[in-house]
Amino acid sequence: MSVLIKDVLLDGEETSIYVEENTIRGIGSDAEADRTVDGRGKAAIPGMVNTHTHAAMTLFRGYADDLRLQEWLQEHIWPAEAKLTEEDVYWGTRLACLEMVKTGTTCFNDMYWHLKGAVKAVEDSGIRGVLNSVFIDKFNKEDAKKQRKQAEKEMKDVKACSRVTLALGPHAIYTVTEESLQWAREYSDKHDVLVHFHLSETAKEVEDCKEETGMRPVEYLDSIGFLGPNLVCAHCVWLDDREIRLMGESGVKVSHCPTSNMKLSVGEALDYEKLKHAGVCVSLGTDGCASNNTLDMFESMKNAALLQKIWYGDPTRLPAGEAFRMGTSEGAKALKLDTGAIEEGRLADIVLVDLKRPELTPHHNLVSDLVYSASGGCVDTVICDGEVIMENGRVDGEEEVMEKAEEIVGDLFSR
Ligand SMILES: [Zn+2]
Repeated sequence: MSVLIKDVLLDGEETSIYVEENTIRGIGSDAEADRTVDGRGKAAIPGMVNTHTHAAMTLFRGYADDLRLQEWLQEHIWPAEAKLTEEDVYWGTRLACLEMVKTGTTCFNDMYWHLKGAVKAVEDSGIRGVLNSVFIDKFNKEDAKKQRKQAEKEMKDVKACSRVTLALGPHAIYTVTEESLQWAREYSDKHDVLVHFHLSETAKEVEDCKEETGMRPVEYLDSIGFLGPNLVCAHCVWLDDREIRLMGESGVKVSHCPTSNMKLSVGEALDYEKLKHAGVCVSLGTDGCASNNTLDMFESMKNAALLQKIWYGDPTRLPAGEAFRMGTSEGAKALKLDTGAIEEGRLADIVLVDLKRPELTPHHNLVSDLVYSASGGCVDTVICDGEVIMENGRVDGEEEVMEKAEEIVGDLFSR
């Protein structure tokens, strides 16, 4: 299968993009293709990469808002999640994938229950996903052992298409035993898999860690050998200078979640400048739909830029070009994927943005427009892994996905 995107704007020039199988083979090529996509009046950008999600939490969108993190988790989210089945997760993830595709995201890093349901949803949606085998043992040794066994089994037994990468998802230092964290590190080193983690999201997490271990979270993780280049940490808002240095030295990747951080009022802003100077790769995540409440990465790029400016009182902080790279190439780097840029030889994850929209007119600076005035609604066409999965704003079967999700939610809350 080959696709030719004709007369499309790429880096300010009108050109064509030729895709063969799942790879970009020619920029400016007019090779014959099985399928032609009309790119007139559209700009091609790399598919966005969302590096922190809990995709099936789309089912809880708008269900328990405006609460404190611990109360929100313990009294609302965890009890509801305890009732979820693999089928619920399948449809919740399908809904998430649909929303992501429609808003220009072609890959996401997902920590959620019922891995098999999520894998099938990603396969059926045509999107790319790094899907985690999750563990939360709440320091129960028996549970911890059971979950390590289950994770090992899932990593070995779950078979998926090439768009799916399996990874480990130990939840956080306040929910997972030290032994399990060390196990995750050993497993990750041995099999070269990513580890996805929540880190230093709240002041309480830092205080509790200091009380229990005498160290701040990153120092504690360093002391048990958990840090490394395969580790992608979400949030990371409460870091001191030494922790930032440790993260840079060990190659840890950060997933910044500006919208969720503001909504849950975590109390600090990520120090992007310091992380950047320490050499840390900082990408963007939406977090789950119960704490955002959308998966639209355009919104996250804008919020990331605005949050840096307001928090540090400096409008030169996080300019549009860097926010855009956080949403695209830095995300691909964090997930070790050959996407995030439109270049020959890269995987073909390409989004066409409709330029004939009032919010994108006139056309002074496309990157500024994408970060500060676009929304997911500007996305016209999406190609993932060389397949056209949305054209003219339409995804095949989108009504069914929304209907099924409604049905699942009705059933879930009456159980
Ligand atoms: Zn999260």
